[in-house]
Amino acid sequence: MISSRLNNFTPFEVMEILDIANALEKKGEKVIHLEIGEPDFSPPKKVIEKTIQALKEGKTSYTSSYGILDLRKTIVRYLNNTYKTNLKLENIIITPGTSLGLFYALAAILEKDDKVLLLNPTYPCYPNFIRFLGAQVIYARFNLEDIKKKVKSNKIKLAIINSPSNPLGVLVPKDILFFLYENIPLIVADEIYQGLVYETEAISCLQIDTFLEKTIYLNGFSKFFGMTGFRLGYILANPKIIEAILKLQQNLFLCPTSFAQEGAIAAFEEDSLKYIESIKKNLNEKRKLVLSYLKQAKLDYIYPNAAFYVFVNIKRDSKKFCKSLLLKKKVALTPGSGFGPGNETYIRISYATSFKDLEEGLKRFISFLS
Ligand code: PMP
Repeated sequence: MISSRLNNFTPFEVMEILDIANALEKKGEKVIHLEIGEPDFSPPKKVIEKTIQALKEGKTSYTSSYGILDLRKTIVRYLNNTYKTNLKLENIIITPGTSLGLFYALAAILEKDDKVLLLNPTYPCYPNFIRFLGAQVIYARFNLEDIKKKVKSNKIKLAIINSPSNPLGVLVPKDILFFLYENIPLIVADEIYQGLVYETEAISCLQIDTFLEKTIYLNGFSKFFGMTGFRLGYILANPKIIEAILKLQQNLFLCPTSFAQEGAIAAFEEDSLKYIESIKKNLNEKRKLVLSYLKQAKLDYIYPNAAFYVFVNIKRDSKKFCKSLLLKKKVALTPGSGFGPGNETYIRISYATSFKDLEEGLKRFISFLS
C-alpha cells in the first residue's frame, strides 16, 4: 500500500526520544530537554507586533509565489550589506521553512542516479530527500582527506554544505569549503545556523566568488531569529533556478504564510538584530558551560564553535544509552545514529535551553555515564 519510494525514508530518530519524553511528562515527570534543535528564546518583539498588526489589517490572503516584495527586498538588502554581495530581487524566493526549501532545491536539479556528496555526520533529511528523488548518497567523513578520496572515486554532481553544521556545531573549515567549490559542479548551501558563530570569524558560501554560478543557498528564520513556528525560509540562486523552484512552489504550496512574512520583515530592524546579538552572547555562555563539564569529565567531543550543538563520543551504543538516561535520569539527548553511518557511539547535546536545566542535565548525564 505504501510507495516503495518511502522504503529508505527514515523517521527522525530524535522523535522517538521525544515520544518517550512526552509520555514521561504526561505521567507528571519533569524531563530536561537537551535533544531538540529548537532555540529556547522568543522571536524579536517587533516581529510579534508586526505579525499581529498584519492579521488585524487583514493580510491573510495568498501572496505572490515568490513571497512578498518587502520581505524579499529586506533580506537582499541585509545580505548585501552584511556580506558585500550583489544579490538582486531575481535571486530570491521565500519558502515555507528551510526544510521545504531543501526539497525544492534538490527536486529542481537532481536527475536519477546523480551522485550527491554529504559530509558525515549530516542533517538527517538530506539523505532521505536525495534517495526519494532517485539520486545516490555518497558519504565522506568530515575531513579533507576522506572528501578528496570520495570526490576522486565518484562523479559527484552536487555537494550539500551545512555550515555551521547540525549536529557538529562547527563551521565547515575553509579548506573543505574551497575544495568543494573548486571540484564539484553544484553546491547546496544550508546556512540556517549562519550568524550563530563564536570565537572564530564567520565565513559564508555567500562570500565565495563563484557563489551565484553554482550555489543554491538556503536559510531561514527558525534558528537565528528563534521563529521555528513561523515556518519561513528563503532560497538564493541564479534566476534560472529560482524560476524552476517557483514552479514547484506554485504547485506544491502556492506561497508561504502571508502574515508570517509580514512579521518577518521586522526581524531585520536594528532593535531585533540587537536582541539577537544578546541571545548569541547568552548561547556562547551556555556553550562554555557545556565545554567545562565535558572537559572535566574528560569526554571526547568535537570542539564546537557555532550553532548550539555539541557532538560527544560516549564510546558505547548511544541509542541504548539515550533511552535509559531518559527513563532513569529524565534527561533527553539525541543519539548519533540518525546523523549517518558510523556515528552510533555519539550523542548530540543541544544547549539552547535554560542555564538551570542545562547544568542539571549535564550533571545527570555525566554521572550516569560513569
Ligand atoms: N537545516 C538544518 C541543518 C536544520 O538543523 C534544520 C532544523 N532542525 C533545518 C534545515 C530546517 O529548518 P526549518 O525550520 O526552517 O524548516
